[in-house]
Amino acid sequence: MKIMRNTVQKTIVLETVNSLRNHATADAIYDEIVKTHSSIGRATVYRNLNLLSELGEIKKIEMPKGADCFDHRTFNHYHAKCLKCGKILDVNMEYIKDLEKLIKKDNGFEFTSHDIIFSGICTKCKYIN
Ligand SMILES: [Zn+2]
Ligand SMILES: [Zn+2]
Repeated sequence: MKIMRNTVQKTIVLETVNSLRNHATADAIYDEIVKTHSSIGRATVYRNLNLLSELGEIKKIEMPKGADCFDHRTFNHYHAKCLKCGKILDVNMEYIKDLEKLIKKDNGFEFTSHDIIFSGICTKCKYIN
């Protein structure tokens, strides 16, 4: 019974991330879910978001400043963050698979992956303010 309920909750969280498609924070995802599933707890949503990203069903984007975001696109890609409204967008740029290989191997650090988050002003903020 418990397993059954956990599966349902996981599915609800996954479906919400897939329908929002906007790099939402855990809080925004919770706010969306609670509209239709009022009994679900915030901790449950958070737990399932982390579980789903560990399973590779969604992608967690760790933001240097601010809350982590969750992406329905699981392949490697880059993002841009609007400095005015905080919106996170996908960048239309090919992922540089071997970027780590360009680093001079002289400090013993083992590079395994990279994320790039560009900063700027989104079109909405650029033209509507
Ligand atoms: Zn903006
Ligand atoms: Zn993305």
